[in-house]
Parts: sequence; C-alpha cells; structure tokens
Amino acid sequence: MLNRRRFLISTSAAASWLATPAALRAASALSTWQTNPFTLGVASGAPTSDGFVLWTRLAPDPLCADAMTPGGLCAGDVPLQFEIASDDAMRNIVQSGSAQAEAQFAHSVHQQVRGLKPNRPYWYRFRSGDAYSAIGRAITLPAASAPLEKLHLGFVSCANYEHGYFSAYRHLAEEQPDLVLFLGDYIYEYVDKVSTDLVRTHSDGVEATDLRTYRNRYAQYRLDNDLQQVHAIAPSLVTWDDHEVVNDYGDLLSATYGAAPTFPAPAEFKLRRAAAYQAFYEHMPLTPRRLPHDAQLRIYDQFSLGNFAQIFMTDTRQHRSRAPCYGPPNNVPGRVIAPDECPELLDESRSMYGVSQEQWLYQNMAKSTARWNIIGQSVLMAQVRRRSPTGKPLYWTDDWNGFPASRRHLLQHVHDSKVSNPIVIGGDAHAYFANDLKVNFDDETSPVVASEFVGTSVSSKPGFDFSDVLAENPHMRYFNRDYRGYVSMQLGPKQLHARYQAISDPRDRDAGVRTLQEFVVEDGKPGVQPA
Ligand code: FE
Ligand code: CA
Repeated sequence: MLNRRRFLISTSAAASWLATPAALRAASALSTWQTNPFTLGVASGAPTSDGFVLWTRLAPDPLCADAMTPGGLCAGDVPLQFEIASDDAMRNIVQSGSAQAEAQFAHSVHQQVRGLKPNRPYWYRFRSGDAYSAIGRAITLPAASAPLEKLHLGFVSCANYEHGYFSAYRHLAEEQPDLVLFLGDYIYEYVDKVSTDLVRTHSDGVEATDLRTYRNRYAQYRLDNDLQQVHAIAPSLVTWDDHEVVNDYGDLLSATYGAAPTFPAPAEFKLRRAAAYQAFYEHMPLTPRRLPHDAQLRIYDQFSLGNFAQIFMTDTRQHRSRAPCYGPPNNVPGRVIAPDECPELLDESRSMYGVSQEQWLYQNMAKSTARWNIIGQSVLMAQVRRRSPTGKPLYWTDDWNGFPASRRHLLQHVHDSKVSNPIVIGGDAHAYFANDLKVNFDDETSPVVASEFVGTSVSSKPGFDFSDVLAENPHMRYFNRDYRGYVSMQLGPKQLHARYQAISDPRDRDAGVRTLQEFVVEDGKPGVQPA
C-alpha cells in the first residue's frame, strides 16, 4: 500500500531551517519528502480587496488507486506553510503562515489570506518540509471606492481531456489576464468509448461515480501543465456545468447512462452528487467558509471591482427545476421538444436558478453601481428555435431554452433594474456564439436588454450545428463550432472588447492561437457589435 510513510523519509530536517521564523520552524519540523507532493500545482480564487484563497493539494501519488489513501497519503492532516511576496522571485515576503492540508478533503488546502493591499498582484507558494510548490500569481480586487479604468479577463469551458490538449489554457495564461473564469465542464466524468481518435485517455478507464474516481479525474486534469499554468497566472472564478457530476443532470435528478438510459431514484443519485461536489471543492480555490455537506455546495457568489465591474458567478445545475416532461419513460433530461407536446416547458414556476439564488441575483443586480455587470453561468441563454420536418418549433431542454419563463423573468429584471451594461457569458455548447438578449425573442419590437458571449470548448468535440437556424433566430449574431479555444475580454470605460481566440489544432500539444472574431459592446448600448 502506498501511504504517507513511504513519501515522508525523515522527521528531523528542521536543522537546516533555523533561519526561518519560529512559527514556520515549528510546523516544518515534520518531514522530508521522497517525492515532491505538489504535483497538482497551485491556484488562487475568491479574491477580495484585501486577499484571496490559496489552493493546493498534496498528492505525491496523484492517481493512487486506493480509496483509503487519496493522492498516496493516509489519514491525518499535514501542516504546511505559505508565503506571499510582492515580487515574482519571492524575495520580498509580505506575509507567511501555516496552513493545513486536510485529510478529510484529500489533503487539499484552502487558505484564506487577508490583510493585503487592494488591486495589486502578489506571488505565492507553499512549502511542506523540504518540498516547495510552484509559484503562483494572485491579484487582489480594487477597493470599493477605487477608480478603475480597465479589466482583462478570460473565460473557458468544456475541457475534455480525452478529446484534446489544453492549449487554450496555455495561450490564455500567456495573456496574463487579471481573472480567469471557468464556466463548467472542467472535467468530464465519462469515458469516451465511441471516438476512435482520442489523444489521451482518462486514467482509470471507468466513469467517475464515487469519491475515489472523481478525485482521480480531477487529479489527472490537474497534472496537465497547460491547466496548471492558467491557474497559476491569475485568480480563478469558478462555476460548474453538468459533467462535473454527470451529463445533463439537474437538482437531484439524473439519467444513468448505460446501454439504455435509466432513471435512478433521487436518493441514489444524491450519493453520487455528494461525491462529485466534494471532489469539486477539494480541487478548486473556493472559500472554506462554505463546505460541501449533504450533497450541497453553494458556489454562486459575486465579486466587486470598485464601481467598474461586478461579476456574478451563478449555478445553473444544483438548484434548477426538473427538466420539462422528464421521468420514466423519458429517461434522458436533455432532449429536443415541441412546446405543444410538453406544456410543462412553459410553466411559469420553473426556475433555472432556484428561488434563493434568483432573489440573490435580482437584489444584487439592482443594487450594483458598477459600469459593467457580468453574469457568469454555464449554458446558452439566447433562444434557439429549431423546426421539426413538419415545421413545429423545437427547443433543447438542457440550456435556458428548457426554462423560457425563468429566462424571461431574469431578463425582465435586468431590464427593469436598469443595471448598467449587463453581459452574460457561458459555455456548454462547444461552439462560439454572440447573441443579443431580449425579454421576448419572438417579438421583433422587444428591446435588446443584454449581450451574450458564449465561448467554444477548450478541447471537447464540436457541439450541435446551428448554422442553418440563424435566419430563424436573428438575435444570434454569430455562430462558429469549427474551433476550440477561449474568449478574452478587455473592459474599458467606453467599451467592452471580446476576442474569440481559436487554437490551431486540439490534437497538437503545441498548437498555436489566432483571433477568429472580435466583438464590442458600447457603454450604454446593449447588444453585440462586430469590432
Ligand atoms: Fe461540455
Ligand atoms: Ca455541459
């Protein structure tokens, strides 16, 4: 059995650290590692104007197959140290302290840091015994009253490890953005047994369904160097989509995908969701103020950047209403349906966000004094109407098209609250879109109230082809599913500028990147325009 003892050789290595502060010396008396345990990189998240959360996970044997020793470590928390510097060479240390790698969370660290200066970069690293982590860069948010003139952020979604390399992450990291927003499908739980052109395979060869297999899926992704770079360059703001748990799930309802999909009891699915949510917490720089419990994890949150930008990170999976007309004998939640065959689709009480999150979002949007208000979420919001061979309108149930009343309520609130420059960003579709959002998509006179940018996948195979329904949906201003990549956004006082960045080939580990398309949103004028 691989256990902690195998990786910790000595417990008396403190002598060489006599120069370190007393607090560090006490904790560092632990160990010399046989193998560097910082295999999964570092990350920062949950930024505020005076700090952030620092993340790492100790895993000397990251893909350990034994459920009792995740990452190759057995029970017992491991103390370690963190250092924060004002320079990238870690010469000028401004804060240091001890942290815990918590055994109950697979020896992950979620260290809340406070007391730093607003709106500036810091560099950080961890140390355990004689082992050092990589150095990461984190950035504090501006103070509430601070004038801010620009912001550079990138957003990404849908990184299937088997389908391609993560060059999109590498190229985004090279831009050195201020923030990186992860909009879901950060991992894929399933194993692709259909494609014959996989560039690499999920390590254990089985679908993730329990704590061990979800942990190992995250660990395998986290070993990727391109992924480590994008986490190390800037704070990560994260939400999830379905594949962090299972395809197209919502709330406590899901299909089990076998030869024929079946409909597990919610109590059964709850165990799986609990494991998946815990593994998500363990691998993301989330605030330790909110821990996963009872198959729940609150991840929606807001981030204030002076009165320049407000970012709402929202959760479209955990709290959503049941997919319309889902349940035996309809054993898959994601389908294309016609409203006249499923009146439940139009039910006014169905919600994408759930009542609590909805109220939180509406209230905080109404209160926001920021110039730019960004709603980060995982799935396509604009209406996409398709037609059956007989001309019936058809809608996809798993994105906002399966929640038309909820979408209308949200966009009506956006409109009524007069929130400044609402921008919706999303993923899931494995294609680029740029859309105008309206309260009523079927009424040509209904005003455009917000702008939507949907990023393509980092590596996952292309999604549905909507190129033949653009005429049917004139608010869809752009669609392209031919490339993998990310979206880079520069926000200024007068304009938001979005660049759709496409990598040359997801099958090429060293893929290049180019700008495929550019859009702007002018201050005070909702709707996307070609740059
Ligand atoms: Fe996806
Ligand atoms: Ca998805």
